[in-house]
Amino acid sequence: MEDYDSPMSVRDLVRPNIRKLAPYRCARDDFQEGILLDANENTHQPSVHDLTSVEAELDLNRYPDPHQIDVKKQICTMRGGSLKPENLYLGVGSDETIDSLIRAFCQPGREKMLICPPTYGMYSVSANINDVEIVEVPLELDTFQLRLEAVLKVLREDPLIKLVYICSPGNPTGVQVRKEDIIKITEEWKGGLVAVDEAYVDFARQPSLAPLITTHERLVVIQTLSKSFGLAGLRLGICFATELLATLLNSMKAPYNISTTTSAVAQRALLPQSVDYMRKTVVEILRERTRLEKELPTIPGIGSIIGGWDANFLLVQIVDKDSLEPSNERALKVYETLATKYHVVVRFRGKEQGCCGCLRMSVGTPRENTILLDCLRLVLNE
Ligand SMILES: *Cc1c(COP(=O)(O)O)cnc(C)c1O
Repeated sequence: MEDYDSPMSVRDLVRPNIRKLAPYRCARDDFQEGILLDANENTHQPSVHDLTSVEAELDLNRYPDPHQIDVKKQICTMRGGSLKPENLYLGVGSDETIDSLIRAFCQPGREKMLICPPTYGMYSVSANINDVEIVEVPLELDTFQLRLEAVLKVLREDPLIKLVYICSPGNPTGVQVRKEDIIKITEEWKGGLVAVDEAYVDFARQPSLAPLITTHERLVVIQTLSKSFGLAGLRLGICFATELLATLLNSMKAPYNISTTTSAVAQRALLPQSVDYMRKTVVEILRERTRLEKELPTIPGIGSIIGGWDANFLLVQIVDKDSLEPSNERALKVYETLATKYHVVVRFRGKEQGCCGCLRMSVGTPRENTILLDCLRLVLNE
């Protein structure tokens, strides 16, 4: 952290106030054992008198570990390559990591960030909160791939863009972006960082780009335990970056952002046998997705399935009764009736670019999917 003057260009991309941060030193950084009277904790006991024995072992009256090295080691083992705990920053879900990257690289009221719609809504929510202007270069709307030349042109011509968010596999597209295109951007553009959000990577046909961060210093990869691991309630987001960037992101975070409970469950979820279990569940979800892909188009009123090949959801067109063209009006009607009359809730995405008439449907359990199909038949027949 001392050699700020070394001529490393990535360092210059970080906002000056963040570059100067030294990690907050916690009470517990120097000593972890003994009679710990250094952090104003209640050293008697937690005020919950009926803790389970498992909860009691977590010492919840104590602050959590600010560094989470054990969890980080397990994540590196799971993702392979030459990744090290020093390459990691953990957040309260990816939503926190998405926000941290914007705060690290984009000066509010001045610098900008590029997104490729249709894409995940949190990028613009976070950008707006941080007063960071958004530049949009829509995806190719028939393939949901990047318009590489258009992206590069905009980046070359606007030096105020400091961050590019690429969702791959995309949400709501469910399509993995070509790896070569992402690499090309990180190699041709020196003006900022490329963040790839891989929330759905375990459902995808191609592997994670995370190992590439060791050779591509302007690449950052975001993952989460919320989707394939089935732990959305735990709130653990993962950011892979160069050691330099990971150190900076760790300096920015609230010291105890990952709770003891989150850490304990995450450590069990990342054991080899749990990761095997996750992969088995993924196979089951993909099998059910294939079933939905086969059965949905047999229902009159369902148009094309236009996305979802690398994710645990499908992007499905609802078409007009007469014209058979994708119809937002009918899609909204279907969405509402499904929810209010049948208590089956999907997501309306028809207002997103290239998604006219679309509902996004998560792949559920076999029973849930059967009910979804039955209810869609009823609603579209009304
Ligand atoms: C669901 C999702 C996430 C997960 O966010 P968490 O805060 O980790 O739960 C991140 N990115 C995309 C694109 C998603 O769809």
